[in-house]
Amino acid sequence: MDKRVDQLLILGGGSAGFLAAITIKYRLPELPVTVLRSKEIGIIGVGEGTTVVTPQHLHDYLKLDLKSFYEVADPQWKLGIRFLWGKRPFFDYAFSHQVDTKYALLPKQTGYYCTGSFEYVGIPSGLMSQNKAFVKDPQGRPVIGGDLAYHIENENFVKFLEGFAENLGVVVQDDTVEEVLQDENGITGLRLASGRTATADLFIDCSGFGSVLLGQALNEPFESYSPTLFNDRAVVGGWQRTDEPIKPYTTAETMDAGWCWQIEHEFRINRGYVYSSAFIDDDAAEAEFRRKNPKVEKTRIVKFRTGRYERGWVKNVVAIGNSSGFVEPLEATSLGAICVQCQMVAESLVDCDRVLRPCLRNVFNKRNAASWDQIRRFLGVHFKFNTRLETPYWQACREKCDIQSAEEMVAYYREMGPSVVWRKTLLDHNDQFGMEGYLTMLVGQQVPYESTHTPSAQEWDHWHKIQQAIKNKATAAYTVPEGLALVRSPKWQWPAGIYKQMG
Ligand SMILES: Cc1cc2nc3c(=O)[nH]c(=O)nc-3n(C[C@H](O)[C@H](O)[C@H](O)COP(=O)(O)OP(=O)(O)OC[C@H]3O[C@@H](n4cnc5c(N)ncnc54)[C@H](O)[C@@H]3O)c2cc1C
Repeated sequence: MDKRVDQLLILGGGSAGFLAAITIKYRLPELPVTVLRSKEIGIIGVGEGTTVVTPQHLHDYLKLDLKSFYEVADPQWKLGIRFLWGKRPFFDYAFSHQVDTKYALLPKQTGYYCTGSFEYVGIPSGLMSQNKAFVKDPQGRPVIGGDLAYHIENENFVKFLEGFAENLGVVVQDDTVEEVLQDENGITGLRLASGRTATADLFIDCSGFGSVLLGQALNEPFESYSPTLFNDRAVVGGWQRTDEPIKPYTTAETMDAGWCWQIEHEFRINRGYVYSSAFIDDDAAEAEFRRKNPKVEKTRIVKFRTGRYERGWVKNVVAIGNSSGFVEPLEATSLGAICVQCQMVAESLVDCDRVLRPCLRNVFNKRNAASWDQIRRFLGVHFKFNTRLETPYWQACREKCDIQSAEEMVAYYREMGPSVVWRKTLLDHNDQFGMEGYLTMLVGQQVPYESTHTPSAQEWDHWHKIQQAIKNKATAAYTVPEGLALVRSPKWQWPAGIYKQMG
């Protein structure tokens, strides 16, 4: 520390590596940035759903033009996640407020009226039920807000990011690290397959699950999340779309020993069964996956472990992406986490005029660990309360899943129901899921509560009228193909500032 950063090297050319390169180069154009990646090792090839944090980062923080992004990366819209989870047929997690709202005609928050159907709870769930992308304003124009996340094919996305990085002046080198050289201050060089040794003042480790610098070379301890998250594998596959409508959401379906995603691209549907090898073997998981998805073409198995390294920034190495930690993609949080990590590093470098101080490393590690742990406990709430199936896996999740500090929030909900009055006390200021997220999962899974409020007949009548109004608006909205035709037309202008600055 206290050494000026005049050369920065990023190890890894997946989405983490190129997002880091772009973010740092964008904020520090004078700093030479090199991405070193191995073509033989390649990229992970999964990671296709985002939260709204990713488009906010791309289009607000990096000011990346929406038009060119759509032309090259070909994203599809994701309004949220439809959970086939718990006893209801389904419920919808959205990126804007639905459950955590209050209508003037009703005395209580919306969550209290979701005891029966969880459909048409807000505009996003209305659009999801109708397979629509955006509502129309009174003049028939699309209303496009900042609550649209993306489905993007990983390879398309990385290709787009690589081109963008090169335009900014990032140098990309193909080589493979064979040996990592270090002294007491950290990494001094990377000995490469070509025989060359690469040096830098600061190394960003984006080497994926291998964690070549942080995990392997610096031997940073790994904190496992397995007491909360039991899954350690996924079987992935997909098929070319034929007549299936393009759904504006990810589906997360309960499976015998885990869950299955469905991600929608324009011409392809990708699915993946995330499971625990302690409860099902690979062949049986593959068989269940195929049985429930007969159109699936070839499949492959991806192994992972969930958890995070104790510190993400050690000496002159900062890890970003899968090399820093990993949780399964049930809320598709990894790309958003990468964007936040990139901003933290870039803003730190700007603020210290590239002369790094120990305090920066300490605050980065504090925030980074807290962000990972927040995701862990929120995902825990998904597993602890899913009563859809009675398989040994789900029984174990309900009995043993450790939801950590979410216990307090759940205890409050059990006594009070979907009340939001104590939001600031129950959740950290930085919690990305907020009351909306927790209440969607608790109400959606019909976790029982003891509230004293019984809605009157008049309240139900008001609520059903509100739902009908949502349904009418959603029915008249643009379908996904109509929306795509609109934004691809030569006359189309994206509204300014639709993705607001992150907090
Ligand atoms: C089953 C599954 C599903 C997922 N779904 C989602 C999702 O829906 N949404 C989401 O946000 N995230 C998802 N993720 C996480 C996703 O993988 C990451 O968001 C993202 O792609 C980051 O990958 P990465 O860049 O860290 O690693 P990688 O793509 O693996 O890139 C690693 C890079 O390091 C290079 N490298 C490694 N070792 C060396 C070496 N010795 N020398 C030189 N170069 C080297 C490789 O060549 C590569 O370029 C999923 C992950 C899994 C496992």
